[in-house]
Amino acid sequence: MKAAILTSPQPVAQRPLKITEVADPELKAGHVLLRVRACGVCRTDLHIVEGELPPRRPGMIPGHQIVGEVVGGATAEIPLGARVGVCWLGGTDGTCSYCLRGLENLCDSPTFTGYSVAGGYAQHALARADFVFPLPASLDDLHAAPLLCAGIIGFRSLRVAGVMPGERVGLFSFGASAHLAIAVLQAWKCDVYVSTRGESHRKLAGSLGATWVGSETEKPPMELDRAITFAPSGDVVIAALASLRKGGVVAINAIHLDRIPQFDYDRLLWGERQIRSVANMTRADARDFLALAAQIGLRSKVTVFSLDQANEALIAVKNDAVDGAAVIVP
Ligand SMILES: [Zn+2]
Ligand SMILES: [Zn+2]
Repeated sequence: MKAAILTSPQPVAQRPLKITEVADPELKAGHVLLRVRACGVCRTDLHIVEGELPPRRPGMIPGHQIVGEVVGGATAEIPLGARVGVCWLGGTDGTCSYCLRGLENLCDSPTFTGYSVAGGYAQHALARADFVFPLPASLDDLHAAPLLCAGIIGFRSLRVAGVMPGERVGLFSFGASAHLAIAVLQAWKCDVYVSTRGESHRKLAGSLGATWVGSETEKPPMELDRAITFAPSGDVVIAALASLRKGGVVAINAIHLDRIPQFDYDRLLWGERQIRSVANMTRADARDFLALAAQIGLRSKVTVFSLDQANEALIAVKNDAVDGAAVIVP
């Protein structure tokens, strides 16, 4: 099969992914073999390819928002030809103290798709049968792919931030995840305040119904109940914190941050304000979000790349040059 392989992490401008022929994955017990129909591009892929996340194994195939068709290992629940989604959380041990507490997103021995096992920048992929999600027929391949990480983890971020219906919620930076979260917030009748760099991202936020849109350094005109940050930047976290009311929460939807700058506790955190990270996802997050996405007719805005253009897709994500989400069709 054709696949995009990462031999050694490098800045994406140097095109570290090699598009080449490799052996098809071999079907294993408890797994399904998928023909990849589409694979979303996530900022985490960029962190893996550029080495901000340390390599787990050589020759990695990135990609963890896979829409695949079952071509092997079918079961009664997942028949041959079924269309399923594969996410970042590719498996857990089911036995550690976190799994037993229902916190499988924090599992001590997780498997991550496109990081510790091969992902979806390829024509075929292998996935654990108990970690794939049947996709509603109303979601086509291209629009389903970005829901599988950007959507699900964005949804989890809203849960971690404790968003209640009708609240004022800030979204700091407006990429693939935020442009899906805004639709969920609207379904919950929240007012959404967007601070983001890039004129086209600001336009998109406005067209999707944000109450207020400003640049990344601009402070929303109202105190926020909750804020979610999506940029890999500690400065953005502090900007979000500075816009909260007492008791408000900032949820950081980023697997990697450049740093957290020193900040004034008395002014910014006192008053029971909270900063929380958002780590991975649970299968319940995936099921709940995909059901909600189908119910509210969630449509992501997508830009399509071929597998041969995998490096270009990552460059575009890095430069914030994609409105909505990038999707690779192998
Ligand atoms: Zn992701
Ligand atoms: Zn576990």
